[in-house]
Order: sequence, then structure tokens, then C-alpha cells
Amino acid sequence: MLTTNPFEDDKLREECGVFGVWGSESASALVALGLHALQHRGQEAAGISSWDGHQFHTHRAMGHVAGNFDRDDIIRALPGSMACGHVRYATTGETALRNVQPLYADLASGGFAIAHNGNVSNAMAIKRELVRRGSIFQSTSDTEVFIHLVATSTYRTLLDKFVDALKQVEGAYSLVCMTTEGMVACRDPLGIRPLVMGELNGATIFASETVALDVVGATYVRTVEPGELVIVTASGVRSVKPFPAAHARPCIFEHVYFSRPDSIVADSAQGLSVYDVRKAIGAQLAIENPVEADLVVPVPDSGTPAAIGYAQQSGIPFELGIIRSHYVGRTFIQPGDQVRHLGVKLKHNANRALIAGKRVVLVDDSIVRGTTSLKIVQMMRDAGASEVHLRIASPPTRHSCFYGVDTPERTKLLAHKLDVGGMQDFIHADSLGFISIDGLYRALGETQRADIRPQYCDACFTGDYPTRLTDQDDSAVEDQFEMLAERVV
Ligand code: SF4
Repeated sequence: MLTTNPFEDDKLREECGVFGVWGSESASALVALGLHALQHRGQEAAGISSWDGHQFHTHRAMGHVAGNFDRDDIIRALPGSMACGHVRYATTGETALRNVQPLYADLASGGFAIAHNGNVSNAMAIKRELVRRGSIFQSTSDTEVFIHLVATSTYRTLLDKFVDALKQVEGAYSLVCMTTEGMVACRDPLGIRPLVMGELNGATIFASETVALDVVGATYVRTVEPGELVIVTASGVRSVKPFPAAHARPCIFEHVYFSRPDSIVADSAQGLSVYDVRKAIGAQLAIENPVEADLVVPVPDSGTPAAIGYAQQSGIPFELGIIRSHYVGRTFIQPGDQVRHLGVKLKHNANRALIAGKRVVLVDDSIVRGTTSLKIVQMMRDAGASEVHLRIASPPTRHSCFYGVDTPERTKLLAHKLDVGGMQDFIHADSLGFISIDGLYRALGETQRADIRPQYCDACFTGDYPTRLTDQDDSAVEDQFEMLAERVV
């Protein structure tokens, strides 16, 4: 099975989306809808857990939300007024059901279910110590360290045990957890991954993005603040902030690529429309990297808002030069090399009548390995483009992410290996231009990047990681994780 989408193969991939509902008799059905809206954040597996007042129920499955959670019998088997769910990509190289979330455990203090978006950057060190003390891990997911830290904490109340656990982990986490008492949603002190709160007919909702609130008809209430725990029980909603105040650094890539364009990223006071920011990035890109051309063509779908911004700023007409089929599944069984090659065109094809003889500006959101850019530039040339100029709506991606985003190891990133001229030669473009890091901050409404206290995490561009990286090297971490898992599972 190979992907038929040549453009999504070579992207940074958000690894998870979370959604939780407290206080609705349709909790599981709402979670299924919310996960539908978050499907772009993780397409390899999905799961929902519910609490019916007596026991927990969980259903986890490989594949999309649709097909797994649009069946009445499955939703009926997840009764109760509290439920949480998760969509994921594989993080540790293993796509196995045992890693699909929510993870659940029966603790001495009662049942505990957890859905996690992010990555615990010191998971390996914590896991090693827990295993030495006798913990037996059931998965190879970094999320399981939360469960074992809660289980082994010597504090008395479940909340204190939970806070004790959070204080030991480093990295990124937006969590939606369930206990027999209620729901706890929280973000790490730097607020790296998003989490918002909404309300629907008296029910409290948590979601990775506002689009999921829209889809279930909920009203946006506020963002869960960095370092905040929001606890929802029969006694009401309360907020706990157990960490020392920290300078938040939410992920800048949410604005560039991860979040859906119809979401609002709500970490700034006014909230920023992802669509508007992407258009502003495109406009800034045009100011910084002008070129004489006949058409601005977006690389579908994520390059579209930035391409509109580029076209409006430059005055060059915006045209759909690459047409996407909506009827091709994510994968396609391809028996031979020749058919495999043709399969790439099933999903996206050049609009030859438009492109032939034209000078084309292609706009994409990022370059990761560069293999996608090479194919698209060639697609434009095959369709008769006289010149192909590539413009990228983010700075060069030179560093791996350790905060819950699937990045190739650093040596495989094209921008780590080559300068812009070398990258241009590699992808055979007539010119190549990236938005600058300060230009990206300007598109977000800042005057520039504050180098001493950056407003966002931008480590994949700058290498300026906001946390200490205990388990520094990504491939080494994964290897060790797998080895450890094989020994203990
Ligand atoms: Fe986001 Fe990049 Fe930071 Fe990862 S390293 S959290 S992708 S900005």
C-alpha cells in the first residue's frame, strides 16, 4: 500500500488531536464528531473512552474516525455523560493497537483514561527509572509514563498525584484525562500544543482546535492556558495553576500548516484566524521574494491561503494549476512500478491548458525532504510551464521537532543539508524563496522575533528549543524506546 498523495508524503505531520466532553448524554457521539473535525491531526488510529457512572468503556481502532466511529453499535457501547477521544499518527515507529489512545488503567485510586497531544521529551529517562522500580509498560507510547507516574506517586489525592506526575515530565503535552470524579484538561507550562475549551447546552468541551467546537455546535469559551489544569466535576469547573509562571512558547507551525484554516488559534489576546495568518504569510512572502510571473498556483491544499495572499500582494493572478481529485482514497494498491508511478497522478494532476507556456509561481507551506517539491516542479514542467518559481510560506526547516510532530531525523531535512541555492538546484526550480523568520512573526502581528524571549516555539527553523532535551537525539531515542519496550512488554 502506497500513498496516492505525493504532496502529503513529505510534510511534517501533527501527531495527535484530542477531544473531551463532560456533562452530555450524547458524550461519545459528540466526541466522534469532534474527532472527525480533527482527523487532519492524525490519520492512523482513533479511540474513544467513556464513563457511565459505574465503569469505563473504551473502543480503539486503526484507521480513520469514519468507518470506526460512525456506527451506532460502537457509539452505543460507549455510554455515559463523560467521554474523551484521540486521533493519532504513530510516533515511535510502531503502528500497533496497544499504542492507540486513550490509554486506560485501573489505579489504586480508580480508573484513569488519558488522551495526549504532544511528546514527552524525557520519556526515555523516566521510563527507564520506572521499569527499574518494577513498572510494567503495556505500550511503547511516551504517554504511558503519565499513567505510571500517577500510579507510583506517593501523594494522597489523585489531583496531587497527577500534578506530581506533570512536574516530572518535560516537553509538550495537551491532555484530556478522565477519572471516576470527572475530567481534567491541561497544557504544559510552555503551552506548546493547543487546547481550547467550549460549552454546549451546559456540557463542557475540550478540543485541540476551535474547528472541532464549531462542528459539534459548541460555543468557544477560552483557551486552556499554558500550565493550567481545568478540572470539571459535578461541583463545577475549577482552574489550578500548579507551576511557576513561565514564558509560553506555543508552536508556530500550527499557524503555518497543522491547524485547519477555519480554526482560530487563541493564544494571543485577540485570537488569530489561521486563514488570515496564512494569507498574511503569503503577502509577506511576496514582499520578500518578488518575481515576474503569469500565474500564482497553490500546492493543494495547505498552500492555498498563502498563495492567495501572495497573489493579492503581487498582483499576479491566482489560478488552480493543480487539480485535486476528491474521489481517491488515501492509499491504493499498486502492483507494478509503472502503475505505481501513474498512481501519483490519481490525486493531483496539472491543469495543462492553464499552465502551458506560462511562468508559474508555486506556493507551498514547507519543504521537508524536498522529494515532494521535486515532483511538483517536474509536474509543472511536464505540463509546459516556461518557468517554475517556488515560494515557501515558512523559513527553511533545518531541525527536528521533539514536541509531538513527526519530523524526519535532522540529516534527512533538505535545508539541513543544503543552502537555498543548493535546494533550488536539487528541486530544479528557476528560483526558490522562503519567508524570513522575522517575516513570519510579522505575519502573526509581531514586529519581529524577540530573540531573547521568542514569542513562539520555532525550533524547527531556528534550533532554539524551548525545553531541555534530555533524550536529545530522536532516532536514538526511538531505538532505545523500542529496545526497552521489547524487554518489558
Ligand atoms: Fe512546532 Fe517546530 Fe516547535 Fe515542533 S519544533 S513545536 S513543529 S515550532
